[in-house]
Amino acid sequence: MIKRQTFNYHTHTYRCGHAIGTEEEYIQAAIRSGFSTIGISEHMGYYGWDDEKERIPYAQLDDYINTVEKLKEKYKGIINVRVGFECEYFDDSYEHLKEMKDKCDYLICGQHAPDRTNVYYDQAPYYEDKYIWKMAKQICTGVEKGLFNYVAHPDYFMQSKCDFTEEKAKAIKEIAQCVKDYDGVIEINLKGTYYGRMDYSLTNSYRKEIGESYLYPNKAVYQIIGEVGTKVCFGYDAHTPNALLNRELEDSVRKEFEVFGLNMIEDLYL
Ligand SMILES: [Zn+2]
Ligand SMILES: [Zn+2]
Repeated sequence: MIKRQTFNYHTHTYRCGHAIGTEEEYIQAAIRSGFSTIGISEHMGYYGWDDEKERIPYAQLDDYINTVEKLKEKYKGIINVRVGFECEYFDDSYEHLKEMKDKCDYLICGQHAPDRTNVYYDQAPYYEDKYIWKMAKQICTGVEKGLFNYVAHPDYFMQSKCDFTEEKAKAIKEIAQCVKDYDGVIEINLKGTYYGRMDYSLTNSYRKEIGESYLYPNKAVYQIIGEVGTKVCFGYDAHTPNALLNRELEDSVRKEFEVFGLNMIEDLYL
C-alpha cells in the first residue's frame, strides 16, 4: 500500500489572477483525490501592492474568507476545509499579517520577493547569495514572530537556474534550523516540478554529486533539510483543480527524495 499525504494546505483559486477554478472546485477535486483535509491558501493582497496577475486584490480579502467559511460548513463531515493565505514576510507588514492571521486559520510563508518592487527572488539580482541571506532572515523572522509554522518552497529562487553555492547552503540550513526550533514544517513544493530538471553535476559549486534534480524542489536543498531533521510535508501548490488529482507526482518525488531521510509528517492541523 503506497503512502500518500492526507492533507494539502497549499491551494490557490481564480482570485489571484494566474490560477483557475473556484474554491469549491478545488474542494471537490480534493475529495475525488482522497484528501481528508484541504486548505485554501490564496496569495495574500497587501494594501498598496495590488497586482491582478499575482495576488488577490486587497479589497477582496474578506469576501474570499467568507466564501471558504461557508464551504467549510457545506462540506462538514465530508472533508475538513481550512482557509488561509500564502504571503511574504516584510518588516513593515507585521501588523497586517497578524491581523490577517487572526481572521483566518493559517498563513503559509511563500517568500517570493524581497520587497514590493515586483522583482522576485528568482530574478536578477535577487538570487545572489547576499539576497538569499535576506530571504532566510525574512522567513525566520516571520517564523520567530509566530506568523508562520509552514514554510513553502524555500528553494523557489532555484527557478533562476543559479549556482547553489556554499553560502546558499548555509542560508537554507538556517531556515531549516529555525523552522525546526519553532516546531514548524517545510514544504516540498510539487508545482516546482513543472519547471523541469537540470544536471547540477557541472554547475553546482556545492554538492555537485546530487547530479540531476528538479530546479525546485531541489535535491541539494532537501539533503540539508534532511540532515537538520526539520519536519517536511508535500505542498501541491495547486493552481488548477486537476493538480490535486495528480497523486502519482507525489509518489515519484517521495521516492526520489527517500534517500535524504526526511522527517516526513503524517498529519498536519493548521
Ligand atoms: Zn501562484
Ligand atoms: Zn508560492
